Amino acid sequence: MNLEALYQDIILDHYKNPRGKGLLEHPLASAFHVNPTCGDEITVEVGVDESGGLRIGYEGQGCSISQASASVLVELLQGKSMVESEQARLAFIDLMHSKGVGEPDEDVLGDAVAFAGVAKFPARVKCALLAWMALQDAEIQAGLLTTGEQT
Ligand code: ZN
Repeated sequence: MNLEALYQDIILDHYKNPRGKGLLEHPLASAFHVNPTCGDEITVEVGVDESGGLRIGYEGQGCSISQASASVLVELLQGKSMVESEQARLAFIDLMHSKGVGEPDEDVLGDAVAFAGVAKFPARVKCALLAWMALQDAEIQAGLLTTGEQT
């Protein structure tokens, strides 16, 4: 199986079997983002657990890339510290802006490396980034990120 087919399988698996889908009981903040060009919708909620780790919940509908990306985000960042989650979020944004020539770091990005191929298609980059932008928005609203840190 070549890398592209493997990546497509990972995306399809997250789309069919979303990880951690559902909203939080007591979120600190939530953000609703839409991608009008594709019709994708995502609500991302954030909170903090007892040990200071990130809690993330989400709901959404839309294309396989947008929904798989949200599932990958939650699987990767749930329970992580703000520092670690920011590192991964910024690495994912970099990857999606790499026009398909980026070399993703699997240690940082986990299954999110599967979106490397999507970066070649400008129309789909917005789909892939939707949940990650909503997360940033919710984190800023919750006071977890200062606006000065946003990219
Ligand atoms: Zn889409």
